[in-house]
Amino acid sequence: MRLYTDHGFLIHVTSCASCGGTPFYTRRYSGEVLCSSCFRESIVEKTRRTVSRHHMIVPGDRLAVAVSGGKDSLSLLRVLTSLYGPRNIPITAISVDEGVAGYRDEALGHARSVASELGVDHVVVSYKEMFGFSLDEALDWKEERDTSSCSFCGVFRRRAIDEAAVKSNATVVATAHNLDDYVQTFMMNLMHGDVARLGWLDPSYSDESFPVRRVKPFMEIYEEEVALFAYESRLPFQSVSCPYMHEGLRSEVRDYLNAMEASHPGIKNVLLRSSLDVIARYSGSHGKSSVPCAECGKPSSSGLCSVCRMKAAVEGHVKSRA
Ligand code: SF4
Ligand code: ZN
Repeated sequence: MRLYTDHGFLIHVTSCASCGGTPFYTRRYSGEVLCSSCFRESIVEKTRRTVSRHHMIVPGDRLAVAVSGGKDSLSLLRVLTSLYGPRNIPITAISVDEGVAGYRDEALGHARSVASELGVDHVVVSYKEMFGFSLDEALDWKEERDTSSCSFCGVFRRRAIDEAAVKSNATVVATAHNLDDYVQTFMMNLMHGDVARLGWLDPSYSDESFPVRRVKPFMEIYEEEVALFAYESRLPFQSVSCPYMHEGLRSEVRDYLNAMEASHPGIKNVLLRSSLDVIARYSGSHGKSSVPCAECGKPSSSGLCSVCRMKAAVEGHVKSRA
């Protein structure tokens, strides 16, 4: 293995730079070579630094972790439990059952078993009990809209997680969005002309009208490193994809950024830093000012929030089909 020192000297590394153990992973963007154990430890340490840098979790907090049962969210639960809980900070894992036959059951089983192994409370909320319909049942209506399945589903998922976090008495809810997710969202906002919404991406942003802060402790870690952490930690995770997955522009942005990273290692890190610089200038600007939703009282930009608007459309469609 070849590495260059700060002064440009070529050195050969045949062991983990941290403990001298068997090399397992090389960070292309930094040249760091690590064994499996030091690699996993580095992910925990990187997360700790991100949380501390952006004041994501502070003493006295009660933490909720959104756990879909995929590799990212199970890794997040494992890392945050090793850093903070459950003795130091109470942690609750929250899973959302969207109601997709044959898809979510496997993931919920993994979430349940990992939470139990870590000694963390696990709460499952479903679209059916919260909104009156499952994602499967909303499918007919969904096909007639111009919003993608995941944008539609994401509106209800955010609300479900928020409500479950409030019910769990949490002060902060962590989601497993990683560096790739973060920079993709930044670029997509630019491509949609949604510059005013960039302020929502501010890691220190908190919505005064919502009692639970939302944080992304993996936002400075590459997606591939989170996946590697899950594999090396022997975490079980969901193997099948959601049948409704439709990411449209996001998958094109992801492919583009991955191709750029392959030819320019570290470019995603640079883009993250640039995004944070730009976002800091828009902090405090989050689009239109909010007014309470006439149906549910939650903040909205037009007097009816997106959850209530989409819910009414689905219910109207179901009635018209009956
Ligand atoms: Fe919802 Fe999309 Fe996830 Fe399926 S893949 S559960 S539609 S967000
Ligand atoms: Zn509403």
